[in-house]
Amino acid sequence: MSIPLVDLKTQTGSMKEELMERISSVLDSCQYVLGNEVKEFEAEFSKYIGCEYTIGVGSGTDALHLAFRAAGVGPGVEVIVPAHTFIATALGVSMAGGTPVFVDVNENDFLMDLDQVEKKITPRTKVIAPVHLYGRVIDLDRMRAICEKHKLILIEDAAQAHGAQWKGHRAGTFGRMSCFSFFPGKNLGAFGDGGAVTTNDLGMKEKIEALRNYGSPQKYHHPVFGTNSRLDTIQAAILRVKLRRLDGFNNARRELAAGYNKKLASVGDLILPEIPSGESHVFHLYVIRTKRRDQLLKHLNDKGVGAGIHYPFPCHLQGAYSHLGYKEGSLPVTEKLAKEILSLPVYPEMTMAQQDVVVKTVQEFF
Ligand SMILES: *Cc1c(COP(=O)(O)O)cnc(C)c1O
Repeated sequence: MSIPLVDLKTQTGSMKEELMERISSVLDSCQYVLGNEVKEFEAEFSKYIGCEYTIGVGSGTDALHLAFRAAGVGPGVEVIVPAHTFIATALGVSMAGGTPVFVDVNENDFLMDLDQVEKKITPRTKVIAPVHLYGRVIDLDRMRAICEKHKLILIEDAAQAHGAQWKGHRAGTFGRMSCFSFFPGKNLGAFGDGGAVTTNDLGMKEKIEALRNYGSPQKYHHPVFGTNSRLDTIQAAILRVKLRRLDGFNNARRELAAGYNKKLASVGDLILPEIPSGESHVFHLYVIRTKRRDQLLKHLNDKGVGAGIHYPFPCHLQGAYSHLGYKEGSLPVTEKLAKEILSLPVYPEMTMAQQDVVVKTVQEFF
């Protein structure tokens, strides 16, 4: 039995009729850009997240790019981001014209090390952008306190954490703005690219709405440089169908993570992820650590088990950021994790039998 890292086929199959009906009604409406379907999705997502406004945009990268621009990030402005994340967190800063300042992460939870954040603040810092990596929410009380103390703007990168909660409130309600991706493999995924910014701030909502639409708050008026980055109407229709199932998907992911932790306890030198109480983790990815990562990855792939590395090369050592002058050793925890982490398959439709095959294949390696 071969097991993929992510199984979109089963998920799509389980709701195909409803999806086809919704897609067909968009085709009939001839409203292919923005319009009612996008408005409805934005309202439903706001209600789900518990925020005032959602603005649908073209991707998670654009959500970050536009949120940073709306926050006033530009040339000479620094934004603090974790080094252990998907590159798009930093790209959003660069696209806005600002400079990402990378911070190391904690070994135990893979999240930005809040003890180190304050040391990175300079007179040029304007925004802190933590990432709820792998679906685990960062300590938002501490994050907010640091931002308030230094008068900085908090922008959450919630691209992996749709539905995750911090003390009863969902990720995406704590930042001045928060950014989501609907890339197909995310916990809430479209059938193509898509993203959203959430906020409680009317001024920011209006800015993002203009920026995503040629910088045009009013047709043919362009007071600011905007771009074209809107959530496709057809994707909004698809997301409305899937949003209703998101809590169920996330519960399934949490159960699978608990199952792995039980079945893989004390296997080899594995370090298993912490499972925090409540709903503060939605396990976008289930990430283990081992000193023998490359060999284990090869073994799993040879046996037909999809496993991956998220992410093998730290942001601060990427060619795109070589001009910032970081070197091997600059951010040691991130660099160490990049060599030890391994993502095992986790998707809501995964069966117990499939999980047992993954577990058996890992045990067999050790
Ligand atoms: C996926 C992702 C993004 C980018 O989203 P896209 O929709 O692929 O542009 C940004 N940040 C994180 C943490 C992500 O996982």
